[in-house]
Amino acid sequence: MAGAEDGPGQQPELEDDEAAFCRRWGAQHAGARELAALYSPGKRFQEWCCVVLCFSLIAHNVVHLLLLTRWEQTPLVMLGVVAGALLADFLSGLVHWGADTWGSVELPIVGKAFIRPFREHHIDPTAITRHDFIETNGDNCLLMLLPLLNMAYKFHTQSPEVLEQLYAWECFVFCLIIFSTFTNQIHKWSHTYFGLPRWVIFLQDWHVILPRKHHRIHHVSPHETYFCITTGWLNYPLEKMGFWRRLEDIIQALTGEKPRADDMKWAQKIK
Ligand SMILES: [Zn+2]
Ligand SMILES: [Zn+2]
Repeated sequence: MAGAEDGPGQQPELEDDEAAFCRRWGAQHAGARELAALYSPGKRFQEWCCVVLCFSLIAHNVVHLLLLTRWEQTPLVMLGVVAGALLADFLSGLVHWGADTWGSVELPIVGKAFIRPFREHHIDPTAITRHDFIETNGDNCLLMLLPLLNMAYKFHTQSPEVLEQLYAWECFVFCLIIFSTFTNQIHKWSHTYFGLPRWVIFLQDWHVILPRKHHRIHHVSPHETYFCITTGWLNYPLEKMGFWRRLEDIIQALTGEKPRADDMKWAQKIK
């Protein structure tokens, strides 16, 4: 990269490099602009409803869990919390890998609503940092509605004795739901380099949530590893096992589909 001390003779070359970089990568990329334009008012409305419902149910369920607190179950509850975080990390990887690797933006309904953001994110990784709370968390809130409703239903229909027995299990499920709800927020923070609250940086530094440096490994083209984006705890072991590669080989053998074909198509779009 040319430094600031380069003479005037170097300047046109530097500008050319920057222009070429912007054309290839970021918000001005032709594919990124087309994908961003597909975010519709209908989708926005759906996200608002899901976020409001999801946070109301979380508040409801957390009150019921606190009322049920069983201190004698503390070791089991702690185990449940760690297991919940691990499972959330694995599921974040599975969903991210699935959407990155297979399907296309042209698919009916799911293409524009759920695959589009994944394609946009690879071409313009900083777009997520410009998304507000609703756009960042809307999809995950939608996915959490059913398990949250199921939990709320149990609190109102099961006897106190049954709920007491289920306490550690419900703590596991609740931790899984909380990490899953905030996965994309955690992912957004892993791309944010300015103005992060100190407590978020603390959680990243202690690897409680996805650290920034760790997630950069996924953003090396062709985006084929480190898919877990909640805590990132499983990325290294899954990479060592060749987990995603093996899964892709099986699916390619069964369906004949090539992994990341649609992702490549969007990355190569120039107009
Ligand atoms: Zn990705
Ligand atoms: Zn990312």
